[in-house]
Amino acid sequence: MPAGLCGRCGHSRVIRTRKGSVFRFCRKSEQDPGYPRYPPLPVLACRGFEEEGGSGVEDGTHEFPNEEDSE
Ligand code: SF4
Repeated sequence: MPAGLCGRCGHSRVIRTRKGSVFRFCRKSEQDPGYPRYPPLPVLACRGFEEEGGSGVEDGTHEFPNEEDSE
């Protein structure tokens, strides 16, 4: 399964189970509950995307909106 942006994002960590399943864990979720721990792939747009090894943040629409729920 292509990971989309998560495949190039510095916040993404690959998790492999003993049975061989592979997941992408989003480390942004540890600080911001608006991000899913295991994003449904492929992620095509994400506000939190940061190129792995880079410092830029890509413009994009946040796919996991919880912002409007906050009071
Ligand atoms: S911040 Fe977005 S692109 Fe990066 S790992 Fe999390 S969900 Fe994927």
